[in-house]
Amino acid sequence: MKNNISKIMKILEKDFYKKGKTTLNRMRTRPDAFKVLIACLLSLRTQDKNTEIASNRLFAVADTPSQIVKLSIPRLEKLIFSSGHYRKKARTLKHVSQVLIGGFDSKVPETREELLSIKGIGPKTANIVLAFAFGQAVIPVDVHVHVTSNRLGFVKTKTPEQTEMELMKVVPKRFWKELNGIFVLFGKEICVTVSPKCSICPVRKYCPRIGVVRSR
Ligand code: SF4
Repeated sequence: MKNNISKIMKILEKDFYKKGKTTLNRMRTRPDAFKVLIACLLSLRTQDKNTEIASNRLFAVADTPSQIVKLSIPRLEKLIFSSGHYRKKARTLKHVSQVLIGGFDSKVPETREELLSIKGIGPKTANIVLAFAFGQAVIPVDVHVHVTSNRLGFVKTKTPEQTEMELMKVVPKRFWKELNGIFVLFGKEICVTVSPKCSICPVRKYCPRIGVVRSR
């Protein structure tokens, strides 16, 4: 299986790596941990193009914790409107900024435990920050990564948290950081949650299609 994992990752990397570079991936070239964190919070439950618009509008006005806490909630909501769920996200951004100022000297903490101690930051966000802002060897896992990894037989798990642990045991380290971006795009275009497009899948010949009951 290990050989197949490398083969599959190389094929997907070739087809989806560049296209799969999201707003968050692109930030890795000039990592600003606070901006990575905020963009990740804005990216939840929305498309990348919306994340980019909202991030750019917000960062043009405020890109530090103290600047964000100074914004009124209505102003903040307006700035991040395009990211969707803007009311909840505006409150989360304010809260996270306040906690960073009060508990972390206005800096984004570099450990998973500290990140998860802040209300509003979940495991996926924490791992995105650790991987993209601090270059740590972790695998950000969301629903696309979880579903696709199980279908491909990389792991046999019930939750994204278990998937993260198991993927770290079987996927070569060099793919860890890019795996999320690749699988998110692959999951949106080919290995979609309902009825994956197996007939046009570039890794079909290696895939045991575990749990797939209907496909195209
Ligand atoms: S063959 Fe089907 S189930 Fe397997 S990775 Fe491709 S699209 Fe997903």
